[in-house]
Amino acid sequence: MNILILGGGGREHALAWAIRQNPKCDRLIVAPGNAGIAGVAECARIDINSRADVLEFAQDNAIDFVVVGPEAPLAAGVSDALRAAGFLVFGPSQAAAQLEASKTFTKQVCDACAAPTAGWARFTEAAAARDHVSAQGAPIVVKADGLAAGKGVTVAETVAQAHEAIEAIFEGEFGDTSVVIEEFMAGEEASFFVLSDGTDCLPIGTAQDHKRVGEGDTGPNTGGMGAYSPAPVLTPALQDQVMAQIIRPTIAEMAARGTPFQGVLYAGLMIADGKARLVEYNVRFGDPECQVLMMRLGAQALDLLLACAEGRLAETAVSWADDHALTVVMAAKGYPGDYEKGSIINGLDAIPETSFEMVFHAGTTERDGAITASGGRVLACTGRGATLAEAHERAYRAVDAIDWPGGFCRRDIGWRAL
Ligand code: ATP
Repeated sequence: MNILILGGGGREHALAWAIRQNPKCDRLIVAPGNAGIAGVAECARIDINSRADVLEFAQDNAIDFVVVGPEAPLAAGVSDALRAAGFLVFGPSQAAAQLEASKTFTKQVCDACAAPTAGWARFTEAAAARDHVSAQGAPIVVKADGLAAGKGVTVAETVAQAHEAIEAIFEGEFGDTSVVIEEFMAGEEASFFVLSDGTDCLPIGTAQDHKRVGEGDTGPNTGGMGAYSPAPVLTPALQDQVMAQIIRPTIAEMAARGTPFQGVLYAGLMIADGKARLVEYNVRFGDPECQVLMMRLGAQALDLLLACAEGRLAETAVSWADDHALTVVMAAKGYPGDYEKGSIINGLDAIPETSFEMVFHAGTTERDGAITASGGRVLACTGRGATLAEAHERAYRAVDAIDWPGGFCRRDIGWRAL
C-alpha cells in the first residue's frame, strides 16, 4: 500500500522507520520529512496544515493510508477532509482533537465521566482569576486555555508568580484570553499511550520523558530532552486503574457526544500514593516518546495503526518482546533559547541502523552532501535492549560517535529508572 505520513520531526522519522519495515508498505512518502527521513522514505514539500493541499496530494499520489504525526493538522481538520474524501486515516477528527487543543474541553469531559484529575476553574476576566488564586493559595497551576506548544503552563510556587502568569495570558501572549487555574498535583509523571478506534482501546506502551534542558531535571522546559519506555512507575495494576477510570470512560464519553476518538490517546499522568490522575491528554504521539515506542514495536506498528483506523482493535493485540528503549535528544547549543542553525554534523554514517540502535533525525537538512542542523532539537539517539541499562548504553554509544561541536545533550537520561 501507498502510505503518507504528515510531519517532519523525530517522531515522524521513527514512524517512517517502523512502517517501512512492514511488508505491507510499498511506497512511503513523508511530508515535509527531513534529511534522516529521506533515507527511508520519499519526502514531499506540502503545507500539511492545509486541508486542500493534503487532499490534493493524497489524490494525486494514490495514497491508501495517511498517518498524521503532529497536532496542528489534526486541530486544522486535515483528517476530517481526508476521511470525507474516502481516505483511510490514522488520527482523530478536529472535534475529537479538542482533547488536546482545549484544556477546558478536556476538563469538562473528565467531569462528565468522573475521571480523576486536578480540581479546576476557568476565567475570562483577569481580576476574577487573580481573586481565585489569592483565595486558593500556592502552589497552583495557571494555564492558557488553547494550544501553546507547552509554553502556556505555569506551575506557580507563589501567589505573585500565578498573578504574573495570569497577566501574561490576558495580555494575549498565547493568542487567547481565557485561563484555566488548576489544583497543584504532587507526584511522579508518566505517559501512557492507548490506541482507540472510537469504541475499543489497546494500550501500546508507557514512557517517561525529561522536559527540562539541564541535568538533574533543572533549567527551562523544552519539547523533551529524552525518554524511555517502559515507565516502571506505571505498574500493570496502575495501568488497569488508568484504563478503567480514565481512558475507557473518556472514549465512551467522546462516543456519546457524537465525536468518537480515533487515533492515539496520549495520557499525561501524575502518580502519587499508588494512584494516577490525569494531567493532560495529547491526541498524537509524543516526541521523543514516539521514538522509544516505535523502537519497541517495530514493523507491527503499521498493523496496529491500520487496525485502529479500520475499527479492528477488538481483535488486535501487541506482540511484546519484554524489552526496553531509551532515547537521548541532541539539541543545538542555546536551545530552548536562541540557537544557531546550519552547523555541520559528522559521524552519522558510522552508526549502525538496526532494531537495537537508531539515530532518528528531528531537525536536519542536507546541504551539499553534508547533514546540517536546522532546528532546536536535532537528533534522537535511540537504543533498545533486554534491560534499560543496555538500551542506555547503546543510546549513549551513538551520542558519543557523533561529531557535532554545535550540539549538546543531557548525560543523565533515564536516571530515575536506572
Ligand atoms: P506540554 O505540551 O509540554 O505537555 P501543555 O501545554 O499541554 O504542555 P500540560 O501538560 O497541561 O501543558 O502541563 C505541562 C506540565 O506542567 C506538565 O507536564 C506538568 O509537569 C505540569 N503540570 C500541569 N498541570 C499540573 C497540575 N495540575 N499539577 C502539577 N503539575 C502540573
